Amino acid sequence: MAASLGQDFCRRCGYCQPCPEGIDISTVFLLESYYDRYELKGWAIDRYAGLPVQASLCAKCGECIQKCPYGLQIPEKLARAAGKLGA
Ligand code: SF4
Ligand code: SF4
Repeated sequence: MAASLGQDFCRRCGYCQPCPEGIDISTVFLLESYYDRYELKGWAIDRYAGLPVQASLCAKCGECIQKCPYGLQIPEKLARAAGKLGA
C-alpha cells in the first residue's frame, strides 16, 4: 500500500488549516482513503455528506498549498475526492 500511495498522500498534520472557506481538508482526504482502500464506500459517502462544508466549495485560493509541508496540490485533490464522495 505504501508504494501505491507514493508521496501524494495527506499525513493529517493540519498545517494547511484553517481554510478560509471552512473546508476540513484532512478529513476529506481521510474519507477518500476509506472510500478507496476499504470496503467502506457507503460509510465514507455518508460521513462526507455530514461535513459542514463540502470540498466542492474550494475557492482554489491556494493558501493551503503554501502551508502544506508535503507540497500536496490540495485543490486538485479535493476536487477528485469530491467527485468520488458526492459533491
Ligand atoms: S485552495 Fe481551497 S481548500 Fe485550500 S485554502 Fe483555498 S479554499 Fe481552502
Ligand atoms: S498540510 Fe498537507 S499533509 Fe498536512 S493535513 Fe494539510 S493536506 Fe494533509
